[in-house]
Amino acid sequence: MSAHEAVTPTAAREHSAARTEEDFRAVYAAAPAGVWAAPGRVNLIGEHTDYNDGFVMPLALPHTTLAAASARTDGVLRLHSGGADGGVVELRVDDLRPAPDGGWAAYPAGIVWAMREAGLPVGGADLHYDSVVPTGAGLSSSAALEVVTALALNDLYALGLAPQRLAQLAQRAENAFVGVPCGIMDQTAAACCTDGHALFLDTRDLTRRQVPFDLAGEGLRLLVVDTRVKHELGDGAYAERRAGCERGARALGVRALRDVPYAHLPEALEKLSGEPVVQALVRHIVTENQRVEEVIARLDAGRTRAIGPLLSAGHASLRDDFKISCAELDLAVDTANAAGAVGARMTGGGFGGSAIVLVEEADAAAVTTAVTDAFTAAGHAAPRVFTAVPSAGARRLK
Ligand code: ADP
Ligand code: MG
Repeated sequence: MSAHEAVTPTAAREHSAARTEEDFRAVYAAAPAGVWAAPGRVNLIGEHTDYNDGFVMPLALPHTTLAAASARTDGVLRLHSGGADGGVVELRVDDLRPAPDGGWAAYPAGIVWAMREAGLPVGGADLHYDSVVPTGAGLSSSAALEVVTALALNDLYALGLAPQRLAQLAQRAENAFVGVPCGIMDQTAAACCTDGHALFLDTRDLTRRQVPFDLAGEGLRLLVVDTRVKHELGDGAYAERRAGCERGARALGVRALRDVPYAHLPEALEKLSGEPVVQALVRHIVTENQRVEEVIARLDAGRTRAIGPLLSAGHASLRDDFKISCAELDLAVDTANAAGAVGARMTGGGFGGSAIVLVEEADAAAVTTAVTDAFTAAGHAAPRVFTAVPSAGARRLK
């Protein structure tokens, strides 16, 4: 595989839908009732704001998780994934209970559980998954898996649920069944994004807006640099940041840090001067929400290139104030910027995963080579670099 792998969404999708259907037949010895897709995502801007009732702005990737599925009438849930070892997982929907360490099957089983917990008439199903979303790369393969399952069940059981509702059920599944305290961004991105747009989401009231993000038309490209590392301190650090943000909100007497206006930041920081760690977390969240609003303003004004410095400022804030970057992410961002990128930042939870790089189309190859060479020179494994074409959210393919 070349270091710079451009994805052609339509070709990849058609090829996979047919293969997923075929694989379903091989696993379950019957044709599926349908095939569904849900994408991975990158977050353009708005990092760690989603558990502070703040703003986020993800876009869907052309990379999808596909599910071929049929309903069953006997209350049995069978799950199989081309990307997981261990064959078919068989469960009874009546027996589903949240439990730690449920393995990959906990994500789809959690969807069935969350739907039934919400009183929805969902029974058994046979599901086979086939994914090209890299797992554990900060591109939200987990939300793609959840949302494609939710959409398949929505259709198989004629639930008539809107995409945002499917996203909420998926978040409930991940929080309560899988046991991951994630926000609502990833699932909303997988469920609600549209082709050619970034999705603005207010995570407090779930207001959404599709913001046109026509990279190709502007001669620009958004690269994803998957560092292929995930440093261990990740999970505990997430809980720590979250608790620190909550402490900050309490100290400032607001419901969430979203309620600290950018114009009031100096007073807020002054109030927190005895707690430098919390102070820095607050500074990141408040400036990050402001950056989301500024990115939207610049995109609305047709100034796509002008978002570059905001991306880079977001990276500095995550590195210096939120302290969740790592050597590989900093190297990717610094090298890309030095090689002429318009802007770059780490994206996702941090301590590894992926960075995004906004580049002039003409510079994409040189920036990719510069980053790859820098990784080699530093003794890191080669990153995986690909183009993020703003793509569609979850949908039925067959
Ligand atoms: P991310 O969502 O950033 O990719 P997570 O750790 O949240 O990382 O989720 C990755 C996990 O989701 C995998 O370890 C696996 O359990 C599950 N998963 C995602 N996609 C698939 C798939 N296609 N097949 C089986 N399991 C998957
Ligand atoms: Mg995830």
